[in-house]
Amino acid sequence: MSESSAAQRGGARARVRLQGALVESFPELAPEARRGRIRDITEVGAPVLHRPCRRVGDAELGGAGLASLIEDMFVTMYAAEGVGLAANQVGVDLAVFVYDCPDDDGVRHVGHVCNPVLAEREDSQLLAVEDEGCLSVPGPHAELARPEHVVVGGLDRDGSRVEVAGSGYFARCLQHETDHTLGRLYIDRLPKRTRRKVLRRMEDMRGEVVQRRRENAEWLAGGAAGGS
Ligand code: ZN
Repeated sequence: MSESSAAQRGGARARVRLQGALVESFPELAPEARRGRIRDITEVGAPVLHRPCRRVGDAELGGAGLASLIEDMFVTMYAAEGVGLAANQVGVDLAVFVYDCPDDDGVRHVGHVCNPVLAEREDSQLLAVEDEGCLSVPGPHAELARPEHVVVGGLDRDGSRVEVAGSGYFARCLQHETDHTLGRLYIDRLPKRTRRKVLRRMEDMRGEVVQRRRENAEWLAGGAAGGS
């Protein structure tokens, strides 16, 4: 999911939840980003974005391939100034997403989920209408109603169970990314007319967005991610 203007990234002293659990401190960029390489982001129309992703299999859990995919996804997400990214957004047909996303209470959430399953909480009848955007629909944002509170269950890269609860902007992110693994983009949830408008605006904006990502990639390669 792309960062909306409403979202404020927490400062260094913000509370951080890693894989759902509170941690004492955390670097500005997830350590995975240091080891990853930036991949191209697929855009609306790419078949891999529009079909359900293959579930991560037992043989892949704990493997180097999955770990390095997640590393690549983190650094790709940072270069694109995203708050969440699914594997099919880097062209990989696998049900995995990564996130580094603030909620509305000043908590920063960082982690990854394989084979995510969304469970709405009891109070999920509360809907929030907010701006949403997608790295695979570069540029525009559109208002979309989504439940305020959700829980996503799944596995980490080693196959351990994870459960991540989110509210506010982070709940939106969890839903947006789980949607990706099901082959669904946020624009598929918009009225037809709004969807068309978003796609037209994307045509106007994408050049600038792609250029900015290229500049960020150079900045990250220059050591911002801690690499050499
Ligand atoms: Zn997206």
